[in-house]
Amino acid sequence: MMRAPSSASSCIFCQIARSSTSTVLLHSDEKVVVFQDINPSAFRHYLVIPIEHIPTVRNLQRRDEDFALVSHMLDVGQTLLRKDAPNSKHFRFGFHQPPFNSVDHLHLHCLALPFIPSWKSIKYLSLGPLGGFIEAEKLLEKLKPLSPLTS
Ligand SMILES: [Zn+2]
Ligand SMILES: [Zn+2]
Repeated sequence: MMRAPSSASSCIFCQIARSSTSTVLLHSDEKVVVFQDINPSAFRHYLVIPIEHIPTVRNLQRRDEDFALVSHMLDVGQTLLRKDAPNSKHFRFGFHQPPFNSVDHLHLHCLALPFIPSWKSIKYLSLGPLGGFIEAEKLLEKLKPLSPLTS
């Protein structure tokens, strides 16, 4: 594993996406997989990752493809949390921005609150211009193609 030639092939999240670990996948389709955060910060805490190795939010651009991917990640996360945490009143969906991200493979944190323990909420605060955590909805605004989409 240490001698893997590219960062993608030694990436733990890529291995999870290929089902080559014992991690239980809560959902998988041709674009994304979902699994539980190994160190949960809330009542339910899932990670949605693209199967394709995209390092961080900085690698996303304002274009249809990236907008569609992040929209899909959010849809999948919302659907799962609504099913698995029907009594939660508060949800949070978002991404850590470098240098606050833990793993260099894009992952959407999906949290059904309350935070457990409550101090963990600090990890999921937006730090304004410093970055920190970016809400999925905010990221989508940044990625939304400027020309109107025709349906
Ligand atoms: Zn990866
Ligand atoms: Zn993270």
